[in-house]
Amino acid sequence: MFYGPGDLRLEDIEPQSAGPGEVRVEIHAAATCGTDLKSYRRGHPTLFPVLPARFGHEFAGNVIEIGEGVTKFAVGDRVVAANTCPCGSCWACTIGEETLCENLSYLNGGFAEEIVIPANIVARNTYKIPESLPFEAAAPLEPLSTVVHGMAMSGIKLGDTVVVNGAGPIGQMYIRLAQLRGASVISADMSPGRLAQAAAAGAVETVDLAGIDSIEEKAAAIRAVTPYGRGADVAIEAVGLPEVWEQTWRCLRPGGTAVMFGGPKAGSMMTVDAVAMHYKEYKILGVYHHAPRYVQIAVHLLSTGKFDGMTLCSEVRPLEALVASLEDMSNGIGSKYILKP
Ligand SMILES: [Zn+2]
Ligand SMILES: [Zn+2]
Repeated sequence: MFYGPGDLRLEDIEPQSAGPGEVRVEIHAAATCGTDLKSYRRGHPTLFPVLPARFGHEFAGNVIEIGEGVTKFAVGDRVVAANTCPCGSCWACTIGEETLCENLSYLNGGFAEEIVIPANIVARNTYKIPESLPFEAAAPLEPLSTVVHGMAMSGIKLGDTVVVNGAGPIGQMYIRLAQLRGASVISADMSPGRLAQAAAAGAVETVDLAGIDSIEEKAAAIRAVTPYGRGADVAIEAVGLPEVWEQTWRCLRPGGTAVMFGGPKAGSMMTVDAVAMHYKEYKILGVYHHAPRYVQIAVHLLSTGKFDGMTLCSEVRPLEALVASLEDMSNGIGSKYILKP
C-alpha cells in the first residue's frame, strides 16, 4: 500500500472477489517501473488520486475467478493486462485518439498476491499468453506498449539511422524495436554500464556523454557518428529531462523527427531554435501512454519472442524486496526488478 512519498507498506488487506465483468488474477510476477520510483519519491496525483492506494501496474498471472458475464476468460488462463482502457465515448476516443482519452482510470495493485481487473480492462485490454512465455517476461507489458506507440508515431523505416537518448529500460526497448524495423541505432547515455547493455541489445554505436558539459556539445558528439555527420532520421528521448529533450531535437538531420517520450516533471520547459526548426523542417512529437491497438502488438511481440522481456530484468526478487528494489533503482544499481509474491 502506498501512503505517500517515501511511505510504502506491506500489509494484509481484505481479499476482493470478481464482480460482474471482472476477473481475479493470482499474480506470479510484477515489474518495477521508472514511474513507480517517481511516484514513491514525490507522489503521482494522476496515478494515485486517493491515498492510501495499491501500488504497481506491470504484472502477469493466472485467472482464479471470473465474474458474472465474463466469456473471454476461464479459470486457469495465463493473462496479462494493461493498466487502463480508453472509454470509447469521449471526444478523443471518438476521433481515434485513444491515448488522449479523458476518462482513463489507472489500475494499481500489481505488487500483491492477487488483483481484480476491472470490467472495462477485461473487455478490451486483457490478453491470454502462451505457456511458452514466462510470467516474468510478460510482466513489462505496459512500458513495451507505450514504446510500440512511440514506434508507430516515429515513422522509423528500413535503413534509417535512429538515435536513442537514454539507455535505461525504455531506451533498450526502442533499440530493439527500431532494429526490428531495419534501422541502425545509436545509443547515447552517461553510464558505461547502460551503454554496454545498449551494445548488447544491438546498438551499432554508443556515445558516452559523461564529461561533456553543454547540450549542443553532446548533440554534436552524437551527430558526429551519424552517416556523413548529417544527423538522425529519427531521434528518441527516453529519459524525461528537459535538457535531454533539447539534446534530442539537436541530433536531427534536416527533415528529421524527434520523438519526445520520457515524462519530465511539472513545469519543465524546453528551448527550440525556431529558425532551425523552420528552415530544417524538424518534426517534434510528444508521445504518451498506450491504447489497445498498441498493447495487442506488444503482447504479440512478447508471445512470439520477437521481444524478450527478460532482457530488461536486472534481477528476480521476492515481493518483500519492493522498497529495497526501488532504492537500488534510485542508486543506479539495477533498472528493472521482477518481484514474485
Ligand atoms: Zn510502467
Ligand atoms: Zn475516452
